[in-house]
Amino acid sequence: MTKLDISSFAAGSWVAPDSSARPIACAISGDIIAQAGNANLDVGSMHAYARDVGGPNLRKLTFHDRARMLKALALHLTKHKQQLYDLSFHTGATQSDHAFDIDGGIGTMFVYAAKGRREMPDAQIYLDGELEQLGRTGSFQGQHVCVPRQGVGIHINAYNFPVWGMLEKFAPTFLAGVPSIVKPATASCYVTHLCVKLMLDSGILPEGALQLISGGVGDLLLHTDAQDVVSFTGSAKTALMLRATPHLLENAVHFVAEQDSLNASVLGADASPGTAEFDLFIKEAHREMTTKAGQKCTAIRRIIAPAAHVDAVIAALSAKLAKTTIGDPRDKDTRMGALVSQSQRDDVLEKAALLATQAEPVYGDPDNFEVQGADATKGAFLPPMLFHCADPDTATHVHDTEAFGPVSTVMPYRDTDHAIALLNRGKGSLVASVITRDGDLARQMVLGAAAWHGRLYFNNADSMAESTGHGAPIPHMIHGGPGRAGGGEELGGVRGVMHYMQRTAVQGSPDILTAIGEQWVPGAAEHTGGPHPFTKTYHELVLGETLYTASRKVTLQDIETFAHFTGDTFYGHMDEEAAKANPFFPGRVAHGYLLLSFAAGLFVQPDPGPVLANTGLGSLSFMKPVSPDDEIKVRLTVKKKTPRTDEYGQVRWHVTVTNQGDEIVAEYELLTMNAYEQT
Ligand code: NDP
Repeated sequence: MTKLDISSFAAGSWVAPDSSARPIACAISGDIIAQAGNANLDVGSMHAYARDVGGPNLRKLTFHDRARMLKALALHLTKHKQQLYDLSFHTGATQSDHAFDIDGGIGTMFVYAAKGRREMPDAQIYLDGELEQLGRTGSFQGQHVCVPRQGVGIHINAYNFPVWGMLEKFAPTFLAGVPSIVKPATASCYVTHLCVKLMLDSGILPEGALQLISGGVGDLLLHTDAQDVVSFTGSAKTALMLRATPHLLENAVHFVAEQDSLNASVLGADASPGTAEFDLFIKEAHREMTTKAGQKCTAIRRIIAPAAHVDAVIAALSAKLAKTTIGDPRDKDTRMGALVSQSQRDDVLEKAALLATQAEPVYGDPDNFEVQGADATKGAFLPPMLFHCADPDTATHVHDTEAFGPVSTVMPYRDTDHAIALLNRGKGSLVASVITRDGDLARQMVLGAAAWHGRLYFNNADSMAESTGHGAPIPHMIHGGPGRAGGGEELGGVRGVMHYMQRTAVQGSPDILTAIGEQWVPGAAEHTGGPHPFTKTYHELVLGETLYTASRKVTLQDIETFAHFTGDTFYGHMDEEAAKANPFFPGRVAHGYLLLSFAAGLFVQPDPGPVLANTGLGSLSFMKPVSPDDEIKVRLTVKKKTPRTDEYGQVRWHVTVTNQGDEIVAEYELLTMNAYEQT
């Protein structure tokens, strides 16, 4: 392989490495395959370009526009992923490791693309939570809104996931409307570089949305301000050094960190040898030790088992580890590849030696193991190494030393409280798993341990077929953890987007809030008197467009007919005496569903037209009973419009049903799909 010059992409141009560049070795052969770094990279201009060009370009778009771009990028990367696989083998990763890094990264983009369109508005302002009525009559209300930060997402990543690590930060940042400057770890930056190049070459991204630093970041952090977010993944040492940068502290620059984490897995007392759960526990522990050669921020470092089952766990896990073929990750028989570099291997050996002072090695000898198809001395190979710590209460290193490789320690627990105490000795982790069928144990674990762990993963025979794996951060759920794990939080669906947005409380009249949120607020202007709204196309409807219907009397006969027709002969509708005895009813009352049906009968315009379908009701409340001979009427108002396809969009109507005294008896949102053209 010819040596690769890994450029940076700065302010619209590629900048090649200079004489200050660092050499990068292949994890399999130890040969120098690339170099990266340029001491003269103008990081100040990169920051300004992102802020002044990328930011405005992104903020012009809506969440849906950006979500569509994410989907297009994900499709583009999918088409070219073989190139990423081919290159990524040099980091020591196997094809199944690529599933986590490359497919996982692209999958994260797909999820954000979908969530952006489903859970965020086709607008530039995100409404956070419900309206707050701040006055007696509703003429002054409050709403929290989120807007994109007017700065830059600076993403400093670890070496272990050169694609996923970049995309899991980029996708939510981009969806938020914030430009990214991506800085991968140098050891594997050539893979990130290819991914960024593919994304830029696709022509999908607005100018300034994505820049890349290959090599050192220079004084980039000194150019940041309060609108920027520095999002870091890597060692606790680097995180501490960066987060303590006085400039960041002085300017209240948002800093998010994911760092070392002593993740653990607990074997429930019920999951004894011979059960499906015991086998599952061994399978997950084995996978976490060997995937990415243990270089996973979420990997299981501590295996906590009932004292009576420790020997069985060590025996079963050792047997499985013995079947793990270590070798050239390109060979299809290889189950575990190499670590990223010789220096990382040395670091792991050093940490393992520290663990060995308090735990006994029970599997794996780094001086004597077999490597298939590669030279063990030139490549950064290690065998899986399992330790047994018989006294985890007095031991310290097993709870605070992260050997970032295929290394894990088995330790015994006496009872649930002891297991919880051991779990929490890690002082904060990204994920802890508990393999059990016992719901009470699961609840005790949440009460005792959730505060120390970003994610709790429960698994058993019922869920194992669909479970996503102890170590797989998935975009729907948050990734991060307290304390030693860095105190940060990423992903978690739309929550992850919010880290790149500013939440602001806005207060004002219903008309002001309607204009800001592009969503009709009760009390704001209503537009009445035109043709029936069901005769109007999606685009002809305006927010606040309102229909007031005629009244209709609800008779006892209506209630009886509805009861017998539907089979809903609940006593509150049918038995005067029994209904009266109920504190909610004055006597027999109309069915809530009867009211909804009559409401539809009052507001519907029956002819074929732009309303294509009623797709649901939301936020339905029955506020007051309707007695026989009460009269009801309906107000129907266009609350919100969301384009869905090239042919139709969703209209959310605010509906109130009132009685003869103008009291609200029912309130809900009606969802319809409305055509853009007259049909
Ligand atoms: P590092 O902390 O050494 O590096 C992380 C990132 O920070 C890299 O991109 C690195 O760039 C960059 N960096 C280093 N120094 C500076 C600086 N002065 N200014 C700005 N950026 C800087 O971690 P590694 O990637 O080497 O991973 C090593 C350890 O991190 C592992 O052993 C493990 O303990 C931990 N880790 C934790 C993870 C987690 O999420 N919990 C995930 C992955 C790793 P460069 O490579 O160019 O030095």
